[in-house]
Amino acid sequence: MDEKKLLYQKKENTMFSFIVASKNPMLLFRWYKHFVLSVCTHDNFLKNFVTSDESLIFPDFLLKLNQMKEFYFKTHPYHDVRYFETFRSKSRQDYLFHSGATKRHHYGMHYFCLAVDMTKWFNNSHHWNLDYDLLRRTGNSISITSLYPFEECHFQFLPVPMQNDFFDFANQSIRCLQDLFSLKIDGDIGPITQGAILFNIDRLNEYFGNLESQIKHKIEDDKLK
Ligand SMILES: [Zn+2]
Repeated sequence: MDEKKLLYQKKENTMFSFIVASKNPMLLFRWYKHFVLSVCTHDNFLKNFVTSDESLIFPDFLLKLNQMKEFYFKTHPYHDVRYFETFRSKSRQDYLFHSGATKRHHYGMHYFCLAVDMTKWFNNSHHWNLDYDLLRRTGNSISITSLYPFEECHFQFLPVPMQNDFFDFANQSIRCLQDLFSLKIDGDIGPITQGAILFNIDRLNEYFGNLESQIKHKIEDDKLK
């Protein structure tokens, strides 16, 4: 095995140990893969734009949101429920922070595609007048978190008390990725890290493939113990 491959393997192991030490390794793995391959490579990733693409939402979360909407339509079959914002870039978060629209600086759950803002669509525009009460109650029953009463249009995948642990995990994942490409390790995906991701998509697919089979093996082994 050549030297470069060995080095990669060592770096993969760091991420592996880190993921399997968590309570839900497969969930975190799925998130990590989605974030790197689908979110970081998106056109709006570094831009100050509103992004409403449904495809950016973490798939496990989207599944729950669809369940929530399905239930909602039983009461309001004619509401056109839309996402005003799914992903939110760091530059947009900064912009909102400086204009006083949010108290959160740099990034939040939207950045990691674990939050959405929901609206009703009519007359070709978004309106903040869904039956948020019903959405919140339905969401609650399938553990979707609402930021009621502060921001009733906002729904997220994780409960607020878990956010900081998640941010630590996300930061560590980004650092591992930067280490993989021997970039400056600062936990921040700027143009250089994004460029490295885009340039190494094949290599990354291999990386995630290896990581996934290692994690699955570990889970199977633990079951046998
Ligand atoms: Zn929001």
